[in-house]
Amino acid sequence: MGRRLAYSRRFFGQRLEQTTLMARRRQIYEGKAKILYEGPEPGTLIQYFKDDATAFNAQKRGTISGKGVLNNRISEHIFTALAAIGVPTHFIRRLNMREQLIRQVEIIPIEVVVRNVAAGSLSKRLGIDEGTQLPRTIIEYYYKDDALGDPMIADEHIACFGWASQEEMNDIADMAIRVNDFLSGMFAAIGIRLIDFKLEFGRVWDGDYARIILADEISPDGCRLWDIKSNEKLDKDRFRQDLGKVEEAYQEVARRLGLMPEGEEESAVLDFDSHRKKRGR
Ligand code: 5GP
Repeated sequence: MGRRLAYSRRFFGQRLEQTTLMARRRQIYEGKAKILYEGPEPGTLIQYFKDDATAFNAQKRGTISGKGVLNNRISEHIFTALAAIGVPTHFIRRLNMREQLIRQVEIIPIEVVVRNVAAGSLSKRLGIDEGTQLPRTIIEYYYKDDALGDPMIADEHIACFGWASQEEMNDIADMAIRVNDFLSGMFAAIGIRLIDFKLEFGRVWDGDYARIILADEISPDGCRLWDIKSNEKLDKDRFRQDLGKVEEAYQEVARRLGLMPEGEEESAVLDFDSHRKKRGR
């Protein structure tokens, strides 16, 4: 009996320690769609993908059921493919349905938008019909500041306020073009037109030497993806514009990328978090 008790104590003690460790995981940052936790080793973080969705500088809020699971998987797929063609990224490995291990970076406070086709704020700002093919790819920069509504900025502002050096901006523009070339081809192969997308970059240090790597995520949250034949929107614009079938659009992108084997659509989006929520716990 005494032995059994000792065993139980040891067993439950370990379990308790594990639970407390998990509960004690330090949250570093909570954004609109993701949470960052301290990682298991110095220089690493855990990126958790939420189902929460916001638009128009968080004036519109909602949830897209299963989005976090799909974005985690889609972003893993894209970042792994980009690493394979030599684009350095913060992605280390996927940990589970909603989390991935990433390298900690100093975020460059700039959103880099790459556009191939007129849409969204470009169409609105310059009065160009949505869907107009641009004669050349455009790279735009926005200052990452929610309170200011992420205002558009020029290279001059970046240099003037020291957000990144000229050399770093050259690396960022080169990488943005490489990512665009690669993603345009990748999506075209599965019948999707890459209209535009947003990238974020970070700085990592090797001693005194800093280099730029791709950070954040690449998913239908930050890309405009249209079906090549029908021009149907397969991205967050379905949420922004109340077009309906939002979850289905994200699933369709994952399915075409081969990330949801036929017949497994349901189980692929079922995870512990949504299961618990469904059961009201
Ligand atoms: P626009 O400037 O037309 O609103 O957005 C251009 C592209 O960048 C779109 O693909 C859009 O999804 C993405 N984008 C711009 N700002 C943000 C942002 O703050 N969050 C996300 N998720 N995507 C953004």
